[in-house]
Amino acid sequence: MSKPSSSPVLRFAPSPNGRLHLGHAYSALVTWNAARLLGGTALLRIEDIDAERSKPEFVTAIAEDLTWLGLDWPEPVMQQSHRMAVYADAGNHLRAQGLLYPCFCSRSEIAAAAMATDPDGAPLYPGTCRHLDRGTQIERLERGDPVQFRLDAEAATARTGMLTFTAVGPLVTDRPQVRYARPERWGDVVLQRKGTPTSYHLSVVVDDAAQGVTHVTRGRDMEAATDIHVLLQMLLGLPSPIYHFHRLILDDEGKKLSKSKGSQSLADLRAIGWTPADVRRAVGL
Ligand code: GLU
Repeated sequence: MSKPSSSPVLRFAPSPNGRLHLGHAYSALVTWNAARLLGGTALLRIEDIDAERSKPEFVTAIAEDLTWLGLDWPEPVMQQSHRMAVYADAGNHLRAQGLLYPCFCSRSEIAAAAMATDPDGAPLYPGTCRHLDRGTQIERLERGDPVQFRLDAEAATARTGMLTFTAVGPLVTDRPQVRYARPERWGDVVLQRKGTPTSYHLSVVVDDAAQGVTHVTRGRDMEAATDIHVLLQMLLGLPSPIYHFHRLILDDEGKKLSKSKGSQSLADLRAIGWTPADVRRAVGL
């Protein structure tokens, strides 16, 4: 699945569910700067597995905004919505190892039963369906009940043993450090659901390997999720890239910028006269 690469490969992987804002611009600029420093290539990847929220006009807008910032990338651009069969294969690989199980719990049932939270602060899945008997599983699947497929974290980590990954920072050229991954703090994460053979976690590890990505540059808000990615890489026999977690661009109230909170987009800033140099200055690059 992985492509051997002689020079560093990095990627910027936005989801096309809104216009890019200063946080994205910072992440993209960090990625392209790192690629230049390392003598490698920066790729663009469109993470559009969420069919409801992803819109083709945002895919076009991403390319427009990055070009305006002075960034370029090799074509063709990988678009995750075109790769469902590849993700289904990866899911089957985990299924064949007995590591995926069907879960029929609703969000509210999980919230009511959860005793703890995951690193993102969401209710930690309490494992309700982990040991459902085979008969009940088949009956509910045949009935067409809404279903998600979860990774049995305990069984998975029993198989892999202790997991580590390599991170560099604060600069991408800093000396690599070995870190421990603790995927069990996420519980049994959802990797597939009815009608969608993938999740963010599954697609991201499959695609980083397929594209020969050697360095993943992502915000610190994604640092904890890397635990799950390292576990999946091990289970799927994929190489683990070097990780670089960059700082986040915060708003005046110290909160992370977000499309849903209506943070000003790059297009808004451009419309009021900002230049790419203004963007770089605003994010400190
Ligand atoms: N697609 C993810 C996002 O827009 C980031 C991808 C990653 O770094 O793994 O937040």
